[in-house]
Amino acid sequence: MRGRIALLTALGAGLLLACRSVTLAPDGLPTGTVVLEAYIPPAQATEAPGAAATATDPGGMGPGVGLPAERDTDQPYSTSDQPDDVDGYQVHFVYALPSDGADAFLDIGGEIELSATAMNTWLHSKTGQRLRYDTLDGRLDITFLRLPYTAEDISQEYRSINSLLEHWLKITSRAKENKLYIVYYDGFVVTNEGYCGLAPVPPAGIGQTAVLLLRGYNPTRDLTCPRSFTRSADYTGFFEVTILHELLHMLGVVGECAPNYNGSHVSDHPQDLMYHQYDGTYSPLFMYLDYGNDDYYNHGRPDCPDLARSIFLEPLPEGAELPPRWNDTIRNIPPDPIGGMQ
Ligand SMILES: [Zn+2]
Repeated sequence: MRGRIALLTALGAGLLLACRSVTLAPDGLPTGTVVLEAYIPPAQATEAPGAAATATDPGGMGPGVGLPAERDTDQPYSTSDQPDDVDGYQVHFVYALPSDGADAFLDIGGEIELSATAMNTWLHSKTGQRLRYDTLDGRLDITFLRLPYTAEDISQEYRSINSLLEHWLKITSRAKENKLYIVYYDGFVVTNEGYCGLAPVPPAGIGQTAVLLLRGYNPTRDLTCPRSFTRSADYTGFFEVTILHELLHMLGVVGECAPNYNGSHVSDHPQDLMYHQYDGTYSPLFMYLDYGNDDYYNHGRPDCPDLARSIFLEPLPEGAELPPRWNDTIRNIPPDPIGGMQ
């Protein structure tokens, strides 16, 4: 990994990549493997606008956890999964804060919804299909979570943040068996590697939760994840590309059977969304979804994971398939790496 950092730094790209797998199995269960994508351009601190300041009761916070219920907004939001517009396998978005984190209202300010829309615009341009999102009355259903740990607590366990969030979603009965979860985590996280996105990766990883570190910080280089969101439904920026990359991992991409397989990624084109040295800087105009269609999209081999057959797509593909090891994923409750959740 050090070699990759040195190489990319030498190229003067202004960006670093650290893509590394960490096996999380403290109790012997195959609780998941996460891949940690890194980023590192100069910081762009653009706070999202806050909402109007009127306290309101957000409703139930889930069993067994005493969390602050107040939120400084008069706009509607939800701390639980709301009724679904459609049945079927779908992607649910979450905006999560540590107990002491500043609230940027990304769930109600439109930033996350625009991110999700832009991701699907790009995917549709490549495939003619979209990811099926969890919506309510046609709007993205985004859950707001205030976690019971401080940013410092969570930062110290950042390699296990996927476990922490999935544990939380499952013990509070928020996780559903037909959903994948994309969590925009807005707490300060110190990662020596500069990680910005994390997901379980094939073949060993299982899990329903990918995490975006909106405030990831690399102290070695004094650089942060880019706190910027797309401003157009037609353009995928850093975060949108990163989410797509992580989401594809949860769908079983890239399988070991791929001819250009390289550690859950591919190695045949540096502008491939799933390139093994992915660094999040790809322009959507010059980004491939499986260069050559031989590794993970539309390759036509029935015995190898193929995004084109994913049950999370709409229109639903013929012979739609669940992600590999889905039964293990939905049965497994990963451990709380901090250990204080009831
Ligand atoms: Zn990756």
